[in-house]
Amino acid sequence: MGDEQRSVAVIGGGIGGLTAGLCLLRAGFDVHIYEQAARLSEVGAGVQVSPNASRVLHGLGLAGALAATGVKPLAWHQRRWDDGRTLLRAPLAEALEATYGFPHYQMHRADLLAALAAAMPAERVHTGHRLTGFTDHGSSVRVRFAGGHRVTADVLVGADGIHSTVRQGLFGADTARFTGCVAYRAVVPADRLKHLDLEVTAQIWLGPGQHFVHYFISGQRMVNYVAVIEQDRWTRESWTDHGEIRDALAAYQGWHPQVREIIGAADETYVWALFDRPPMPRWSSGRVTLLGDAAHAMLPFMAQGAAQAVEDGATLAACLREDAAVPDALLRYERLRLPRTARLQEMSAGNKTRFHLPDGPAQRERDRQLTAGSQAWSFNALGWVYEHDASLLNEGGEDPHMSIRSTAKGRPT
Ligand SMILES: Cc1cc2nc3c(=O)[nH]c(=O)nc-3n(C[C@H](O)[C@H](O)[C@H](O)COP(=O)(O)OP(=O)(O)OC[C@H]3O[C@@H](n4cnc5c(N)ncnc54)[C@H](O)[C@@H]3O)c2cc1C
Repeated sequence: MGDEQRSVAVIGGGIGGLTAGLCLLRAGFDVHIYEQAARLSEVGAGVQVSPNASRVLHGLGLAGALAATGVKPLAWHQRRWDDGRTLLRAPLAEALEATYGFPHYQMHRADLLAALAAAMPAERVHTGHRLTGFTDHGSSVRVRFAGGHRVTADVLVGADGIHSTVRQGLFGADTARFTGCVAYRAVVPADRLKHLDLEVTAQIWLGPGQHFVHYFISGQRMVNYVAVIEQDRWTRESWTDHGEIRDALAAYQGWHPQVREIIGAADETYVWALFDRPPMPRWSSGRVTLLGDAAHAMLPFMAQGAAQAVEDGATLAACLREDAAVPDALLRYERLRLPRTARLQEMSAGNKTRFHLPDGPAQRERDRQLTAGSQAWSFNALGWVYEHDASLLNEGGEDPHMSIRSTAKGRPT
């Protein structure tokens, strides 16, 4: 980097934007984050922080904050929807930490966001700033906000989520595609579920046309659940809405009592329409680029959406630090990140079919593979996801596993 401190405007104060802001700040940039909401906030739900993400977050000095509320699950437990039979039980946190050097946490999204926000100097976070447009003048970018406020920066980063205005400004309007899935999400105080004697594992229950995931968060004080159901259409206006517990229970009629008890123990639930996008051919143009869901929205069925947003920030900061010419640095960032995230987008979409097989021959073959400990379902098959160090810029062979077409079926949110 030259003598002059380069300025970066990051649009969006979510997990992706805040992580990028912190990585850029550590790399010596004059970074400011602009968030449309009046305050930084996250929905009340859980997020899995895999070792590839915790590696970046530890590098930002957040190891203590993650450990304070994050829960390390003993195992990943896949079960059959009706009788609860174990299909696969793979050791998780200890095993992943021993192999990849960084922990796997289950966290409340608000705790993760709070940890990131606490590390970012408050004067660098500007809430109540909704980006409306920008112009790349070649030597700098002029950024416009609702209400008439304007700033100029050397680099503009759109971390503004799946409906990104920055992406629209770069590549034109498009719409995210409805994946045919909706997710009911809720958090339940753990003491309401004491009678179930739940193990501290991440449990996924596979059934025809739907699945159900639950795990502890917030120092084991809360249980997070995600109930994913296939549905033809999404007719509501908002992407996230209050849902009815009775509707979720009706959708899980006939499922194992443990699943139904967890669903019914929540006070309220949100229902999310799950949208994604096919991988984009480009993320960057001139001095403007994208990260997180703005660049690579994916189904949550590999639990990698936020983790990839975290990785983006580390790689972006490393590229900008190494290369004096902003457009070159952004193209390098894109070259390093796009194949990896595209692969995860595809694998996440593929898991919709695999998790939701109707009972029958294909489901029986899937279950046979799971119970036989097939390599295709093992964590080893996902080594290329978890071992990745996003701050390293190994171009050409940036990820030795990128060329290997793994058959990993992965794991969901
Ligand atoms: C049901 C479900 C479960 C999931 N579980 C996991 C999981 O276990 N693990 C995992 O890794 N990922 C998970 N994900 C994915 C993860 O939630 C997302 O990939 C991640 O939150 C994306 O972060 P982001 O910062 O890119 O975008 P967002 O979190 O959407 O943040 C974007 C921010 O930009 C702001 N913004 C938008 N437009 C503007 C504007 N014009 N001006 C200013 N600000 C603006 C928004 O207000 C928001 O704060 C899950 C997703 C879903 C739907």
